[in-house]
Amino acid sequence: MQPFTLTRPADTKSAVAAASQPGSAYIAGGTDLLQLAKDNVETPRRLIDLDSLPLSGIHATANRLRLEPLARMSDVAAHPAVARDWPVLSQALLASASPQIRNMGTMGGNLLQRTRCGYFRDTGFACNKRAPGSGCPAINGENRMLAILGVSDSCIATYPGDMAVALMVLDAELELTGRDGIRKVAIGDFHKEPGDTPHIETVLQPGELITGIDIPAPARRSHYLKVRDRASFEFALVSAAVALYIDAGTIRSARVAAGGVGTRPWRLPEVEAALIGKPPDPASLKAAADQFGAGAKPAKSNAFKLVLLKRTVLRALQTVSA
Ligand code: SF4
Repeated sequence: MQPFTLTRPADTKSAVAAASQPGSAYIAGGTDLLQLAKDNVETPRRLIDLDSLPLSGIHATANRLRLEPLARMSDVAAHPAVARDWPVLSQALLASASPQIRNMGTMGGNLLQRTRCGYFRDTGFACNKRAPGSGCPAINGENRMLAILGVSDSCIATYPGDMAVALMVLDAELELTGRDGIRKVAIGDFHKEPGDTPHIETVLQPGELITGIDIPAPARRSHYLKVRDRASFEFALVSAAVALYIDAGTIRSARVAAGGVGTRPWRLPEVEAALIGKPPDPASLKAAADQFGAGAKPAKSNAFKLVLLKRTVLRALQTVSA
C-alpha cells in the first residue's frame, strides 16, 4: 500500500481546493477506497477526509427529499419518511453490501463505488480501466457478472451499485461543488459509458464534490428487486427499480431502470413506453417487460441476463401494481 498524507479540511471550499491537487482523492466511509488502496489498484498520495464536514443530513418534506453526501446508507434506509415515501430507495440500500458496510458507507461514496470486475481489482492482469491501453481480458475471459448494455471494445465492466439504479426512477438530481461553483447534473447524466476511455467513469471534474442528492417527489408505488447468487453481501446479477403512477386503473407514468446489466445505471425507456396508458394487468405488464433487449450485446457467459432481467422487471412491476 502506497503511503499517503491525510488532510482534514474545515469546510467544503477547503476540501475542493485540496482535492484539486494531482494525486488527491476524497475519503468518506472508506469502504471501497481502502480496499482498492490495499490492493494497489488506487494509489492516492493525499487523502482528503470528509468525515468532519457537516454534510450528513437527511431532509424530507411532503414533496421533496434532499440527501447530503455523508449520510450513511443505513440511516437513509431506516429513515421513516424514506421508507414510506421512497420505498425503492430504502429497499435498494438494504439490498446493498452488509449491515457493517451500510453503517460506514455514505451516499456520495456509494455513487462512486468502482466496478467489481475481477481483472480490474487484480494488478496481475491487464485492464483498460486501471491501466489505459493495456487491454481487456474480460471480453474473452471470465465475464458472467459483466455488462450487456453500454459495452465497448475497451471495457464491459458492470456498474456495481444499487442505489443509483433506484435514483434513476426517482428523477434524482446531483448537486456538484467545484472550484467554479455549484452545478446540477441529472443522475442519468452522471455516470459515463466506457467508450475508449473506461477509466473516466463520471462527469466529475478534478476536485469536484457531490454535495447533495435531490429527489423531487414521493414515489410511494415503487420497488427495488435484486437477484444475486447469494442472499446477502453480493452484487446483482440483475436488478430492477420501478416507479409507477396509476390513476383510475391506468398507468399514467412509469419509470423503470436496471442494474447488473449496464456499464452504468440503465433506464429502460422501451419498457416505460409500453406501460403508459395500459391497465396494470398481467398481460400488459408482461408485454412491457418483454420490450427489454434492444441494443444488448452479451458476451460468452452472460447472455442469461437478457431473460433474467425480463423476469425481474416483470416481478417488480407486479409488486407495485398489486
Ligand atoms: Fe478492465 Fe473493464 Fe476489461 Fe474489466 S471489463 S478487465 S474493468 S477493461
